[in-house]
Amino acid sequence: MDISTYQTDFVTSADTLRIGNDLGVTAAPIKTGIEVLPDDRVQGVSFLSKLLTLAAVVLPVFGILSAAKILWGTDLHLTDLYAAAGFYVLTGLGITVGYHRLFAHRSFETGPLLRVALAILGAMTLQGPLTQWVTDHRIHHLHSDKDGDPHSPNLAGNSFFGILKGILHAHVGWMFTEKGLHRNSKYASDIYGDKYLLAVDRLYLFWVTLSLALPFVMGYAAGGTLGSGLEMFVWAGLVRIFLFQHSTFAVNSICHKFGRRNYQTKDNSRNQFVVALLTFGEGWHNNHHAFPRSARHGLGKFQIDFSWIMIIAMKKFKLAYNVYLPKSSRVLNSGLHKR
Ligand SMILES: [Zn+2]
Ligand SMILES: [Zn+2]
Repeated sequence: MDISTYQTDFVTSADTLRIGNDLGVTAAPIKTGIEVLPDDRVQGVSFLSKLLTLAAVVLPVFGILSAAKILWGTDLHLTDLYAAAGFYVLTGLGITVGYHRLFAHRSFETGPLLRVALAILGAMTLQGPLTQWVTDHRIHHLHSDKDGDPHSPNLAGNSFFGILKGILHAHVGWMFTEKGLHRNSKYASDIYGDKYLLAVDRLYLFWVTLSLALPFVMGYAAGGTLGSGLEMFVWAGLVRIFLFQHSTFAVNSICHKFGRRNYQTKDNSRNQFVVALLTFGEGWHNNHHAFPRSARHGLGKFQIDFSWIMIIAMKKFKLAYNVYLPKSSRVLNSGLHKR
């Protein structure tokens, strides 16, 4: 069924909550962090944390230079590719299923073990500690494409340079300004209230180290030489981090600028097929802004949403529950609304 069928079903984030319950998916009245934010005060993260996040943007570029044989000129073997793909998928799902849909939007619930696993995997993308990511993201939804949005590409004017400046700002520039990288116990009160998540958050540096060290150790174990360790470090470490980072950043830049708008949301969010493929469904960003709490972002028949497939699988194995869907998903025959 074509997605245009649902255009009249536009709901606000608050409605999504109610409609989620209408679906027969019972949920405790928990804060989503989007519609119940108490105030706008935020606090910047520590200097070290900020430095780390910025280093995480700059550092993986060296992986690309090495892969292009400009720097250390490492070779590529099939095992490196498999490892890179494995790390990309696993840590990427940590962001899309974990950081974004589970933690930032409370699209579903899960047990403490899986919560911790997803939080660790998300941290291994080097996109920042959970409390910081969730705070920035909830502020983004609250002010989408208006003053206060930390990474809107639409606030720098409509001239050629304005558009370019906006896209660059939304992609990576915002992290180098005072607009983002906040963490706040009010914006992310549910995260701060979860002692397991807070523990993962505090150990951020450890997960970053693990994300870089694991590929090296695996490569060394597979090839038996320091060179084979370095190779896998470059491909499954640096290059993998670089590719997923920029795919995620494209959700902020491309998906608020170019693409189809299936829903008349108050922002300029767009649906982008390629970004959706690279980010496991996050590129259906206009759908997401229309139904922020929906666990499913790819609402059309051909809108592939790998994260949603993972959530269905988790639900099947009773690892995910209280899964939220907008009312219109009833007709998508996903089976989730049938209890
Ligand atoms: Zn957005
Ligand atoms: Zn979101």
